[in-house]
Amino acid sequence: MAQILSEQATKGQHRRRAAVFLDRDNTLNVDHGYTWQIADFAWVTGAWQALALFHNHSIPCFIVTNQGGIGRGYYTKAQMHDFNNHLCSEAMKRGGMITDIAFCPHHPDAVHDELRAPCENRKPAPGMLLSLSEKWNLDLSASVMIGDRKSDVEAGKAAGCHAYLFDGSDLEPLARDIVARHFPDVSPYPSDKESHHD
Ligand SMILES: [Mg+2]
Ligand SMILES: [Zn+2]
Repeated sequence: MAQILSEQATKGQHRRRAAVFLDRDNTLNVDHGYTWQIADFAWVTGAWQALALFHNHSIPCFIVTNQGGIGRGYYTKAQMHDFNNHLCSEAMKRGGMITDIAFCPHHPDAVHDELRAPCENRKPAPGMLLSLSEKWNLDLSASVMIGDRKSDVEAGKAAGCHAYLFDGSDLEPLARDIVARHFPDVSPYPSDKESHHD
């Protein structure tokens, strides 16, 4: 319903697009706490399949990730970008596409004062979703947030999106449900053969 209303509201204007926002750690890649080394990269079950599914349906995907490890001094922004670039290129090899990534380096226990301040971008606050929406002209009311923590769901809801808590088992069936429920007007789901290529 929200999607229909928003499409009517923007008819004749530059149309805002619905998107999927994904948490990173333990939603896309396996996390054992402050993951930043490329050697530690591993997909969560069903994660690349979910990204490929969204991309096959022309649904833009964005990562919104708290990276308080930067504030705590565990790794640098450059190291996080290297890890993110690796994740994006692994996704592309398997038919997925990450359009953009927003991150928040702040943390209440940050070692530097400027990164210890409360931040409107740190989930559960919705700042990262709001700025991506401005930058990419997204329709938040038709968009979906997926993450493994309550703070992900809270951030999604605070931004006006649909929000789903991922239980960590397999991201692909959740992605299929989300496509069927929230993106029913996009191209049909590809055959199983296509989704299981390697
Ligand atoms: Mg997470
Ligand atoms: Zn921040």
